[in-house]
Order: sequence, then structure tokens, then C-alpha cells
Amino acid sequence: MDIDLIREDFPLLDNIAYLDNAATSLSPEPVIRAMNEFERHYRSNVGRGVHRLTTIATQRYWDSHIKVAELIGGEDGTTVLTKNTTEAINMVACGLEWHSGDNIVTTVLEHHSNFLPWVHLRKKGIGVSTIEPFPDGMIDISAFESAINENTGLVALTHASNVLGNVLPVKEIASICQEHGARLLIDGAQSVPHISVDVKKTGCDYFCFSGHKMLGPTGTGILWMKETDIDPLLLGGGAIDKVSLDSYTLAEGYQRYEAGTPNIAGMIGLGYAVDYLRKVGMDNIERHEKKLTEKVIHGLEDMEQVHVYGPVEKSARIGVVSFNIEGMHPHEVSHILDEGSDMITRSGEHCCHPLMEYMGLPNGTVRISMYLYNTEEEIDLLLATIEEITRRL
Ligand code: PMP
Repeated sequence: MDIDLIREDFPLLDNIAYLDNAATSLSPEPVIRAMNEFERHYRSNVGRGVHRLTTIATQRYWDSHIKVAELIGGEDGTTVLTKNTTEAINMVACGLEWHSGDNIVTTVLEHHSNFLPWVHLRKKGIGVSTIEPFPDGMIDISAFESAINENTGLVALTHASNVLGNVLPVKEIASICQEHGARLLIDGAQSVPHISVDVKKTGCDYFCFSGHKMLGPTGTGILWMKETDIDPLLLGGGAIDKVSLDSYTLAEGYQRYEAGTPNIAGMIGLGYAVDYLRKVGMDNIERHEKKLTEKVIHGLEDMEQVHVYGPVEKSARIGVVSFNIEGMHPHEVSHILDEGSDMITRSGEHCCHPLMEYMGLPNGTVRISMYLYNTEEEIDLLLATIEEITRRL
């Protein structure tokens, strides 16, 4: 994995250290070129008509579905392209048939996007149980064994925390779900970009993630489904086989869930992002991020006024590290890192208010989130700057 060569593909990296990849990643030149090529040379709608432009656009748009499915070992299921993870999760929440008395099991670790769609269902008489993690974010499997029962309609679980970086034991939880006939939805927004994922092995029914966090364009996301067992959220052009004045037949496969003209340039770009990730290799990316993450954690743990959150168990983490400097607001720290050292980090509550409340962190944390293009030199500079900030306290 040649980081210097990789960095040449990301023009934004010339002047900054980009360490906010959990929010969104950057797109490499091949992705930007693919989107421009669509706009310049074959812009047209997809799945409609037979002219020369739509033939190319439809093929490339279709290819993106296949590429994404291959990346996650999901060829046997249905891969629907969505706006983002949030839309994918809401599609499942709105598309499943719920019965009064059904219960949903989730955790305090969840991003609002994998929390609010379930809490909203309380209005329909659906119960929502939230499992608390250990203080370091790790999950007690026995808490799932106690919470999941015959009334559990769905378990909604993050694969990796966007605040603490820990990877959850989804396979074990999938087995408990299967024992009780409960469906499992995994929020893979923070896993697919960073580690090899095989949806079959996770044992889930629905797997949701964001294209824009894995080198793809903004406005791209994915809902993978084992079975097409939910109702579509939108009905309209492109989603049907046949319509008469008083009836309609839905299309088979992903088309059923993609009514209306999609983000065609973005989705074609997403296909190229998948090509890029596969060329570099997910195992190489995971190894590289692990090395950087350990360096960050060791460096921060050595600083007295710095508190690092998340598990000490380093093998089950992605490249996300949250910390605070005693006596400083996270926004202040993030601002100094940006202004003083051109380092882009995230500060605040990371769309995880329940988790922040549980951890007693009303102002949230500073979050560093790494990706394939980050370097050890950037981490050295980051640590040196944080140390300098603590010296000035
Ligand atoms: N889940 C997790 C774990 C996330 O980190 C995020 C994005 N921060 C989301 C869901 C929502 O992703 P999007 O904004 O692409 O819908």
C-alpha cells in the first residue's frame, strides 16, 4: 500500500490533515472523473428508454449495485442504493409490518440515525429497549440474551461505534436473534469503509451504510437486504412492472425500492469508489488504520491532562479515537487544531446524545477518525500539537 501514491489522488490533502473521516471521507480522482464523465459525455436518465446515452448510464448505474454487493459478499441479497445510511434505516423502520406489542432492541451506543426511527415507532405501540454498554463501550452479550425474546421484532445495532471506535460482536448477537426469530439490522456506516465485511457471515437481515464515508460521493448510501420483505418507502416511476387504473405490480429486485430519478452521477462514482477500495485492499486499509490508531492511543494516553474514551482492547477497533483535554471544551480544541496546524477533526456530540449523556459528557468529545490516506507524520504532528496545547494550560 503506497500512501504517497494514494495521496496524489486526493487533491484536498495538499494543505490539510483530514482526520474527520467518520463524518465523511474524501473522494479520489477516479471517482471525481467518473462523475464528470457522466455529466459531460452520457448524462441521461436510467432504466428508461433505449437511446445511446441511457444505455451507457443504465449499465454503469447497474454495475455500481453489483460492485457494492461484491464488496460486502451480498450477491445473494438485494442491494438498494439510497441517499445515506439514515435513509436506509428509515426505509426498514417504515417498510416493516409492525404489530402492537412488538419490541425493538437497540443500544445506547447508536447514532441518532439508528435510534430515532425506532423511538418514533413508540407512537404505534411498539416497545423499544436500549441496552447499556460497559463504560468503555463494549457490549455484554448476556444483556442481549435477556432482552431478546419472542416479542422482539427487530434488533438494531451498530457494527462499529462512531464515537468510541469499538467493533461489536454482531455474529454472536445474530445467533441470539435467530434463536428467537428476531430480525437483525446492522448499521455498518463505520465498518464497511474500514474493515472487510461479509454480510452473510454477520447473519443480519438488513445492512445499512453510507457511500460517502467510503470514498464515494455525498448523497450515496446503501440498504442491503437478505429478502425483499419490506414495503417500499416511495412509489412511482421506475419501481413498477405494470400499472393500470386500479392496480399495479411492483418491480422485482432493487428497482422496487428506487422510485424516481436517482443520484446517477453519485452512484456511478460510488462504483468507482468500490473499485478503488478493492484495488488498495480492505485488509491493507484495516492494517494501516490499526497502526495509526495504536499510535494515537499510546500518544494520548501518555498525556496527563488527556482522557481517551473507548475500549483498551485494540484489535476490535476501527480508526476512531475520542478524547478530551481537561478544562477545555472539545470545540476549542478542534478549533486550535484547525487554525494552528491545519488538522481537521470533529468535536461535539457526534449525533449520539444518549451515549454522551450516559458517559457524562455534555459537551461531547474531540474525535479523530483516520483513513487510508492518513500518515504517521500527520499523527506525530497531531500528538505534538495536543501536547503543546496541554502545556499551555
Ligand atoms: N450511523 C453511524 C454509526 C454513523 O457514524 C453515521 C454518520 N455519522 C450515520 C449512521 C448516519 O450516516 P448518514 O449521515 O450518511 O446517513
